[in-house]
Amino acid sequence: MSPMPRHLALEVTRHCNYHCPWCYCVWHEFPELATRDLPRREWLKIIDRAVDSGTDDLLFTGGEALLRRDIFDLIGYARRRLPDGELSLFTNGSRLTDAMLKRFRNLRVHLATSLPGLKTYGVMTGTRRTCFPTLALLARAKELRWPMQVSLTATKVNASEFVDMFCAAAFSGAVAVQMGAVMLEGRARNRTDLALSRPEWEELKSAIRALPDSRIGYNFCDEMICACRDDQPTEYLKNYGLPDAPRCPAGRDFGVIGPEGGFRDCLHAVK
Ligand code: SF4
Repeated sequence: MSPMPRHLALEVTRHCNYHCPWCYCVWHEFPELATRDLPRREWLKIIDRAVDSGTDDLLFTGGEALLRRDIFDLIGYARRRLPDGELSLFTNGSRLTDAMLKRFRNLRVHLATSLPGLKTYGVMTGTRRTCFPTLALLARAKELRWPMQVSLTATKVNASEFVDMFCAAAFSGAVAVQMGAVMLEGRARNRTDLALSRPEWEELKSAIRALPDSRIGYNFCDEMICACRDDQPTEYLKNYGLPDAPRCPAGRDFGVIGPEGGFRDCLHAVK
């Protein structure tokens, strides 16, 4: 049995109730990687195999992981197999109820969500939703002493309110904020109209750094194209590549299991 990496993302479903134009899920480009979702018993076998080969950090994601009715079966099982391991869940937040927040807290599952916009939330998610339920969710999670991490993705659409997005996440109760510019992968593969130039992204970073200290931990992801992929157009490499950036851990101590159960090195790549 080949060993699994220590950190493993489980894409437990290909389904999502959002239609984000910047969605990085790899099956928007390669539908053959996600023609079905594995049933519960297969995911349990994968969790067993991962834990038996040394994985001690599992991220449950999708698609929208909370669309699975059996998500607590999967996570509860993972917790029993990994009593001291790291478990986390990434969700768009639309299905996350108060009762679920408490169950995740009891299971010690770290929660992360995205805040893709304020005024632009609907456009950035392809829904008619507003940002307010997400902000209320962050506040409630903090109140329950199980605050959530937040991811912000900068695009041409939300760049003018990006600093406000950071402030809204921070002051609504996020425990940490992770920020990055849109990556031209997945559904965004050909959406160069969404992409920021490297100087535009650097300008947003400077504006965030210039804010008064909100005592919220934050970091920037500087990858604008995925270094794991060898099919990047020359134009992408020229405009968005950052040759000196340290390589992400993909393929070393990080890996992904897709909705069909196939292993990949990276969230954005086929292999
Ligand atoms: S980015 Fe997340 S919330 Fe948006 S469509 Fe993709 S999986 Fe759904």
